[in-house]
Amino acid sequence: MNYHNVEFERSFGTYSQLGRNDLPEIVFAGRSNVGKSSMINKLFNRKNLARVSAVPGKTATINFFRLENLRFVDLPGYGYAKVSKSEKRRWSELIGGYFADERDVALVFSLIDMRHPPTADDRQMVDFLIEHEFPFVCVLTKADKLGKTAREERLQKIRQELPCGDQLTLIPFSAETGEGVGEIRGILDEISQD
Ligand code: GDP
Repeated sequence: MNYHNVEFERSFGTYSQLGRNDLPEIVFAGRSNVGKSSMINKLFNRKNLARVSAVPGKTATINFFRLENLRFVDLPGYGYAKVSKSEKRRWSELIGGYFADERDVALVFSLIDMRHPPTADDRQMVDFLIEHEFPFVCVLTKADKLGKTAREERLQKIRQELPCGDQLTLIPFSAETGEGVGEIRGILDEISQD
């Protein structure tokens, strides 16, 4: 795929607005501030395709991008503590509503900060994906922030910390160094050719 040709499609504030399900969808999910926008921008070589913010907890929307025969779905970041209960409810309705909508989900990238043990929300997300049999891989973000020893240690431990950890595909990723970009683009190219 030519990653430069990605186009922003639309933002949705409620799942009832989601449009037709006419393409296989690649989904990005992760807690707020995990590095999801940075990953999307790195993958598509764009500065501002997804908005990177120093302040977590920006307004929750689902954003759709299109590249060739695939749609990319940027889900709102979950788990940001400092938002109101009603905003949290809106987030979970948006995310739950998306997955309940019988869309053609080709793959979910479940992003987890590589530096720390997964949060309860991260584990819940992975549980949900397993339970509902969505195809997914875990992307371990901010890999550049760990030294060699800490990195090996986290890679081992995270398998014990995540549900079904020994069976999961883990991809260390860095928006700074570009680590993981090639592997992820390879996966996407295969899906695109199916
Ligand atoms: P989002 O809320 O998940 O979309 O997270 P952002 O992409 O906005 O990133 C949150 C913060 O983490 C920003 O300050 C980014 O610069 C930083 N960040 C994201 N990815 C990386 C990475 O791979 N390496 C490093 N060192 N920092 C990162």
